[in-house]
Amino acid sequence: MKVIPRDQHCISRKNISDGALKVMARLRSSDHQAYLVGGAVRDLLLGGHPKDFDIATDATPEEVHAIFRNSRIIGRRFRIVHVRFGREVIEVTTFRGHHDSEPASGRGKASHQSDQGLLLRDNVFGTLEEDAVRRDLTVNALYYDAANFAVYDHVHGMQDLEQRSVCIIGEPEVRFREDPVRMLRAARFAAKLEFTIEDETATAIPRCAHLLREIPSARLFDEFLKLFFSGYAERTLEQLMENDLLRYLFPDSDYEIRQDSVAMALVQAAMRSTDQRIQEGKPVTPAFLLAALLWPVTDRLAEQLRDRGDPPMTAMHNAAQQVIASALQTLSIPRRFSMPMREIWEFQLRLQRGNSRKARELLQNRRFRAAYDFLLLREQVGEETGDVGAFWTELQTLPENQNLPMLDSDSEEAGDGAGGRPRRRRPRKRRPATS
Ligand code: ATP
Ligand code: MG
Repeated sequence: MKVIPRDQHCISRKNISDGALKVMARLRSSDHQAYLVGGAVRDLLLGGHPKDFDIATDATPEEVHAIFRNSRIIGRRFRIVHVRFGREVIEVTTFRGHHDSEPASGRGKASHQSDQGLLLRDNVFGTLEEDAVRRDLTVNALYYDAANFAVYDHVHGMQDLEQRSVCIIGEPEVRFREDPVRMLRAARFAAKLEFTIEDETATAIPRCAHLLREIPSARLFDEFLKLFFSGYAERTLEQLMENDLLRYLFPDSDYEIRQDSVAMALVQAAMRSTDQRIQEGKPVTPAFLLAALLWPVTDRLAEQLRDRGDPPMTAMHNAAQQVIASALQTLSIPRRFSMPMREIWEFQLRLQRGNSRKARELLQNRRFRAAYDFLLLREQVGEETGDVGAFWTELQTLPENQNLPMLDSDSEEAGDGAGGRPRRRRPRKRRPATS
């Protein structure tokens, strides 16, 4: 193990939250070990500001809970303790031990399944050294000791940090088999940190990527949120596509955006706008990004349904239904996101029809803003919308009692037939959008 003393790294206590320092001090005074670990150490060493602080300790969850009144044990894949200080939550994890080589008997350390089918093997406790090698990436396995200000490195994490390398700990294939989500994490950190995925780690990805099909759709959705709502969505998309991982999250969209440069541009633009909003501290909703990711597939399917004779709104409605059903097989998108996503899509038709008699009403709709932003995004990347964006932009600047001239497509009854929405031309061969 390498010990990096305080004068050989740049971590300063003043960049660590009071909550995290308190937790470590209290654990130490109860004769336990306690270290800052994971993303916080990594980000501090890179000169950034960690968004949260994780602590690793040799105290069991029960022991930690007994020490902190303001704590609770939570268990998802493994049990950890949340210690709360006002709005800040410090995550305390007990050192994880080896389990693969452990016999399924002896000191009660064997892994087994809980009644809920939860794998409990990760709750096999261990030492600091064992904990380090159980982590995913070398740069995520550095420990900071607030007692002596040293950093502990068991897995050449420091070197990889300096070389800006995302490297899985241990045998890549073994580690990816153990937990395929680590592949998504590798791509995520490569994007976030602007690091390169180390060769052996990268080579193992195509061999193991299919294992992501085994991951429960709820966990994949959690990971989707981390991938695209941490402020680095655009680069993350690039990483996911380079490593051919996007299709394990969005199979239909992946196919679609690889064929169609307009679709690709739309998705990229939505990611860029999300990143920018996060940077500016504005709220972002997964509904909008999901709307962009799944729009190309939905739009194509709607077109097919229209060709078959469905009226535009019916076609859009049915296409949305099918695309969502198909997406849900991979990713469990909660209804609170899929509903507004759908509304954004259906709103596109209403905006494109530009029936100015009702235009004012639409402005009042609670989904107008998102739908209008989405329309502009589509125009920006060159989708044919009949250039109605300008109409809506202008309408919003006019006083209440003043209306704009009707749009061309508004002539007669803005029905479902003639004057309907312009088509996007797509010369490529087709595949059924959902399967
Ligand atoms: P950030 O919070 O900035 O996204 P992080 O590195 O803190 O990054 P978390 O998801 O909070 O990431 O996880 C905390 C730590 O737990 C990681 O740094 C890593 O050491 C370990 N870890 C998380 N997920 C896994 C996994 N699937 N396999 C092995 N170790 C993991
Ligand atoms: Mg973290």
